[in-house]
Amino acid sequence: MIAEVIVDVAHSDVDKIFDYSCDQTVEAGMRVVVPFGRSAATGFVMRVKEKSDLPAEKLKKIYRAEEDYPALNKECLVLAEKLKNRYRCPMALVLRLFLPAEMRTGKVGEKSRNFARLTEEPFEIPPRAKQQFALVEFLRDNKEADTAFLRERFGNALKTLEEKKIVLIERRRVFRDPYRGVEGERTERSLTPAQESAIKQIEGTQKTVSLLHGVTGSGKTEVYLHLIARQLELGKTAIFLVPEISLTPQMLSQLRARFGSEAAILHSGLSAGERFDEWRRLREGSARIAIGARSAIFAPVENVGLIVIDEEHDGSYSSENAPRYNTFDVACLRANYNKCKLVLGSATPSVETYKRAMDGEFELVRLPERINKRPLPEVQLVDMRREVRRGNPSPFSLTLREKLRDCLDEGNQAILFLNRRGYSQTVLCRDCGYVAKCEHCDVALTYHSEENCLKCHYCGARYHMLTGCPACGSVHIGYVGTGTQRVVGELKKLYPAARILRMDNDTTSGKEGHYKILKQFADRQADILVGTQMVAKGHDFPSVTLVGILDADMSLHFPDYRSGERTFQLVTQVAGRSGRAEERGEVVLQTYEPENFILRFAAKYDYEGFYEHEIAMRAGMYPPFAKIVRVMVVGEDEKEALEALKEIFGKLERVYAKQPEKFLFFNKMHSPIKRIKEKFRYQALMRITDGAPLKEIYEICAAASYKKTIVYVEENPSNLS
Ligand code: ADP
Ligand code: ZN
Ligand code: ZN
Repeated sequence: MIAEVIVDVAHSDVDKIFDYSCDQTVEAGMRVVVPFGRSAATGFVMRVKEKSDLPAEKLKKIYRAEEDYPALNKECLVLAEKLKNRYRCPMALVLRLFLPAEMRTGKVGEKSRNFARLTEEPFEIPPRAKQQFALVEFLRDNKEADTAFLRERFGNALKTLEEKKIVLIERRRVFRDPYRGVEGERTERSLTPAQESAIKQIEGTQKTVSLLHGVTGSGKTEVYLHLIARQLELGKTAIFLVPEISLTPQMLSQLRARFGSEAAILHSGLSAGERFDEWRRLREGSARIAIGARSAIFAPVENVGLIVIDEEHDGSYSSENAPRYNTFDVACLRANYNKCKLVLGSATPSVETYKRAMDGEFELVRLPERINKRPLPEVQLVDMRREVRRGNPSPFSLTLREKLRDCLDEGNQAILFLNRRGYSQTVLCRDCGYVAKCEHCDVALTYHSEENCLKCHYCGARYHMLTGCPACGSVHIGYVGTGTQRVVGELKKLYPAARILRMDNDTTSGKEGHYKILKQFADRQADILVGTQMVAKGHDFPSVTLVGILDADMSLHFPDYRSGERTFQLVTQVAGRSGRAEERGEVVLQTYEPENFILRFAAKYDYEGFYEHEIAMRAGMYPPFAKIVRVMVVGEDEKEALEALKEIFGKLERVYAKQPEKFLFFNKMHSPIKRIKEKFRYQALMRITDGAPLKEIYEICAAASYKKTIVYVEENPSNLS
């Protein structure tokens, strides 16, 4: 027998099939160890066949299989081929997506433990051996037990009985269970008529993709869970994708209560071993629902009956590592392969998705009201220019202060939101305009008052706080921007009794990160949560009745076609955290631009109005009418990077010249941030229309090979910096 093997080395030079001879036990999808060059390498068996075109004496033999089962199932192999074609990257890189990283690095494996049981042969125990009697009784009652436990409880009796062959010991593999103790109560509730009809519509449509457009708090999660449960009843499996940040303690316990060990929940808080075991349970079918962030789309489930992408507009669904896949595209491939449905859900669908629904390509399913007809919180726009005129320099308007006081007096909770872009406090010389920048990156540094230092948010470098201006010597150093820390400081002065939590990039690093902060807030160990983008996502805190958006317009003015869409999504999502239970919620939206269309639509929850406005602005120019393609050329050697850019741009120009009408924009330039972590960044930027030679662009970049410069393609990048 011959195995066609792809070696697990991500380089275009070895990105091809190698034939090896093997015996019957090798199957397609298995990981194997093969002789390669002068050493050995891990590889993937793509296919098994009878004969090779190579002469027998040239064929080498596979050393061994890494596991006794194929790590990659048949669907993975088919999908991998398609993804490789789509994104033009080495096969090994694509195949890695389907495996837990821990498996490749070989750092974890299966965990096993010893179990004891009684022999079936007749036996006798000396009359005075009390412990031995007790142990035998215990095993009669329990059939078998973990040896570590028995040793602790019955001491030496275990060893004695083992030696007498009365107790037999067997080693078996066990799964680590990361969710022990996360047992939530199962709340049986009947669906509302709106939820019922949404489910009917999704199950009834002929279309593969449905868009569930439901306002915040309309009960979308319940719809997903019902759809998933139905597929399980039919003997199928499901994939449920959520942004990482939504895997909150409440969500985990809800899923556990509902599906028990049928659900494998993959999140960043798991240890390597736990993650591997969850993957393994999916692979062998003992868990049938894969729940997780973006990468869970590659879960090894078979016979998939449903794929759900919650908060489909979320930026985290496009990968920022090679291969830069789009989760929706992969989900479509899997849905087609399995002939199953794909459900996208959001209160604020991306303009592109909504257009496809409007055009009839996706089924549009609506949940226009909150559960129990609870009203959406009322949004009050506050003009911050007037606050300044009134002599109020603080980050809080008078309106917000009053409402915050009332909220706290009534014993409720509040969330204060700062746009991330606005939260950095930059250090500036008031005399000459000097701005402190990172030595390794072309970005301004951020002041951290708790440590009294400056930090770079791109590479993490720390600098001493300035005492004078390095450019002109002036001592008039000031800050611009409001930081979360400053907001917390001011809040403490205004409401000394309030307990305040802060959630931003600084407080959420580490394994538990945001999980811990959210749990504290949910358990009501704090009254006010101050945070950036992270607080906007789908959390459900029943006691929150006030949301303050401190700087609503900070994200409006970024030179990105999506800045309006982002702002609308953010405002709607944060506002949606208020008033989710019995009490009516309120939102205070502070802005320097109260007449802005986007903010006005958001304040009225008018998604359609926003959509019409936005689509008219983009017509014929930007996605969804055109695609933005960015070729990034990144390297530490500026000269080489620049040479590479020139060379690649030359090749791109030839493609462009063949069909210039397919390109709305075509040019090369510095990236907006010229340097990150010592690497210089150049780009070729294009806006292309349908039928443009995207494949050729990918091919040019795949063929590029430089010593210290890498080249990659991004489609509609969510971050254009
Ligand atoms: P969304 O994801 O649309 O923002 P959720 O799924 O979080 O909304 O639901 C909002 C709230 O309504 C949650 O507290 C949820 O427990 C509750 N809920 C959902 N469906 C029902 C139902 N059928 N009956 C009663 N409460 C429900
Ligand atoms: Zn100066
Ligand atoms: Zn830096």
